Amino acid sequence: MLSGQLPVLSAAEIRDRATHLKSTLPPHVRLIAVSKFMPAAAIRAAYEAGIRDFGESRVQEAASKRAELADLTDITWHLIGHLQTNKVRQALQLFDWIHSVDRWQLAERINTILRESDTPSPRCLLQVKLRPDPKKYGWEKAELEDALPQLDALSHLRCCGLMTILPLGLSSSEQLQVFQELRAWGEELRTKPWQQLQWQEYSMGMTQDYPLAVQAGATMVRIGTAIFGDRQATLEIHHD
Ligand SMILES: *Cc1c(COP(=O)(O)O)cnc(C)c1O
Repeated sequence: MLSGQLPVLSAAEIRDRATHLKSTLPPHVRLIAVSKFMPAAAIRAAYEAGIRDFGESRVQEAASKRAELADLTDITWHLIGHLQTNKVRQALQLFDWIHSVDRWQLAERINTILRESDTPSPRCLLQVKLRPDPKKYGWEKAELEDALPQLDALSHLRCCGLMTILPLGLSSSEQLQVFQELRAWGEELRTKPWQQLQWQEYSMGMTQDYPLAVQAGATMVRIGTAIFGDRQATLEIHHD
């Protein structure tokens, strides 16, 4: 699908940007290079700069790229986009992490398939929105609080933290505040006794806001544009 298309940035530019970005992050923060809409060649360039974590938003697109990059066996693949229930089975085979567990029905479906197939779970994060945002998926805080006992009873789901995407239009201080709230909420949840649920991971921060997310205690940042350049330019080659 995407093979043969040149990325808009050259491989050398992607390598430089990735190397630079990595050098600005504290070592305990995992850098996930968000390669959605970018061709496999762009992933290869970031890989050459030492990046091993890649984030994709669509199952089908990730499947094609994984096939093209089968020789790079030590990549950790992260699903960061909304997952339709009918694609769970495929997603479980492709991804090491699922950041976008955004509703009960999905959590339950993941758990059921894992139980039936007896395969190990990818690590999962619960996607939350701490401010109203009709355009985004995710649990609202009260909704997730209510669902936690049931989620904790899903014995095959390996849930290890929280993920969030900020709504557009917040000031920097508001952005920082939301990130801090997410971290504080996770710390609070961590003090409670759970059977399955764990709370050590915080996936927050994108190109525009990741320094604030790091400041607030992100353990993973998901960065696309700052590494691969503008996705608009590649949209032309990407209507599958
Ligand atoms: C696209 C995307 C990113 C990366 O966004 P950039 O602004 O390009 O860094 C991060 N997280 C999610 C969930 C995304 O969909």
